[in-house]
Amino acid sequence: MTLTPVALTRPASVTDPFLAQLVSRVPGSAGATWPLTEVYTGEVLVELPQSTPADIEAAFATARAAQRRWAATPVRQRLAVFKRAHTLFVDNAPAVTDLIQAESGKNRRMAIEETCDPPMVMSHYLRRAAKLLAPVKRGGPVPMLTTSTEIRRPKGVVGIIAPWNFPFATGISDAIPALMAGNAVVLKPDNKTALSPLLGVRMLEEAGLPEGLFQVVCGEGPDVGPTLIDNADYVMFTGSTATGRVIGERAGRNLIGCCLELGGKNPMIVLEDADMAETVQGAIFGAFGNTGQICMHIERIYLPESRYDEFRDAFVAATKSLDVRASYDFGPEMGSLVSVDHMGRVRSHVEDAVAKGATVLCGGKPRPDLGPAFFEPTILEGVTKDMLCGVTETFGPVVALHSYRTVDEAVALANDTDYGLNASVWGGDLDAARAVAARVESGNVNVNDILATAYAAKGTPSGGVKNSGVGARHGDQGLLKYTDVQNLAVLKKQVMGPRPGQDYAKHVERMLSGLRMMRKMRIR
Ligand code: NAD
Repeated sequence: MTLTPVALTRPASVTDPFLAQLVSRVPGSAGATWPLTEVYTGEVLVELPQSTPADIEAAFATARAAQRRWAATPVRQRLAVFKRAHTLFVDNAPAVTDLIQAESGKNRRMAIEETCDPPMVMSHYLRRAAKLLAPVKRGGPVPMLTTSTEIRRPKGVVGIIAPWNFPFATGISDAIPALMAGNAVVLKPDNKTALSPLLGVRMLEEAGLPEGLFQVVCGEGPDVGPTLIDNADYVMFTGSTATGRVIGERAGRNLIGCCLELGGKNPMIVLEDADMAETVQGAIFGAFGNTGQICMHIERIYLPESRYDEFRDAFVAATKSLDVRASYDFGPEMGSLVSVDHMGRVRSHVEDAVAKGATVLCGGKPRPDLGPAFFEPTILEGVTKDMLCGVTETFGPVVALHSYRTVDEAVALANDTDYGLNASVWGGDLDAARAVAARVESGNVNVNDILATAYAAKGTPSGGVKNSGVGARHGDQGLLKYTDVQNLAVLKKQVMGPRPGQDYAKHVERMLSGLRMMRKMRIR
């Protein structure tokens, strides 16, 4: 393929000295580097150090020492760092957006939205963390004479492994509750997208996060992963289902907890009474937002037979008119895929579908004239389960249309997948739409939205079911998962066993009547 160079001016903030300074905190004692490129042009931005197992162990040792001091710092003082960080993150959103775009190739609209995620997470847990981390007095087994207190202690050092599709959000947002809870963090971002999380760590330190507490190590997953998991007290992983299994197995062998946020094959169900203009607009974002590289994005759309043609025609027309190109301004509605390799995967899914009988309604081709990893927004018809894109996640701007006869059939088709990350239901009657949503086997379901309503609701846990994950981020459990519980119990008087010399049968009788009485009085 001949690549046409893209004439593009790099943002003024993305300078060589700035990039060199950012990557200088990544340990790489063997001198190996990885060429991190500007996706739009394929030009090398900076050589990213690659961390050896010894580097990773040293990063954990530094983090562990810093963590002991941090855990002893009062919660209020820890939270003050994030109050300052919130301001810094919002003020510096444009510079972060420049980096996200350069390393991932996404359009600017999506990149600036991504910068909003860590401040939203900070804001939520700033309101909630002190309460969640405070000791809770629970009653002991014998009223008055016993107490039990639930005490939350940080796990220690949390290993975070992040993907490239939302490098800033997954790299930084998942670290925030871990740090607030008193942990240190060792982050391994994807090599392709290490810059924006490195800037995030720098901003946290500017806000007062102690040096050494947040380490970043870099390398290919299989090289870095084992040492990282073997040294961590908990692992937070976001990425593909295949890698999630590897991480989960190793964490299991080490008897440490892990949270796995994995892939999806997310359905959208359009009901008879849906507002067609809004639904089409929603589908455009669902299928092509972030160039189809959102874990919660839509790859399957189910339409009632009566409205299939109307939706298809409007959706195809809107897709054809999308502004797709490389630019560091807010103009483009869709940007590039993350890499030429990933573009090859997306292309192979489309070619496989066409070879097996699917029809391309629009798109379907790479666009080297726009940049090395561009692929057209693509709508398919006639996709079946013997096609790659019929069952596995494509993770690109490719969506399949299907028709259904009854709502039961639509729900059955939506659930006919090994994944269960996100779903979207569109309808005019909200109660009816909600009832359909409740029948979808998915960790997140949005009514009359694609994903933002669920994902931005930071008070509610968000995670996948089936092969889409284990555990969740956000909500109380999004912070509490980074803690161990100590059950501190006190017996004030020796009343638990038989009194000295007491007949054991009498003791049993007293014990059982005590149970009856406490139940009757609803004490225990
Ligand atoms: P991936 O699994 O290939 O890589 C994710 C991260 O894991 C990267 O940092 C990678 O270097 C690392 N890694 C790879 N192999 C490893 C190993 N053996 N040990 C340790 N680390 C390893 O996924 P990807 O292609 O980078 O990301 C896309 C996937 O992530 C999609 O499936 C998408 O749906 C999913 N995703 C899920 C969520 C969610 O919240 N559920 C969010 C974003 C992305």
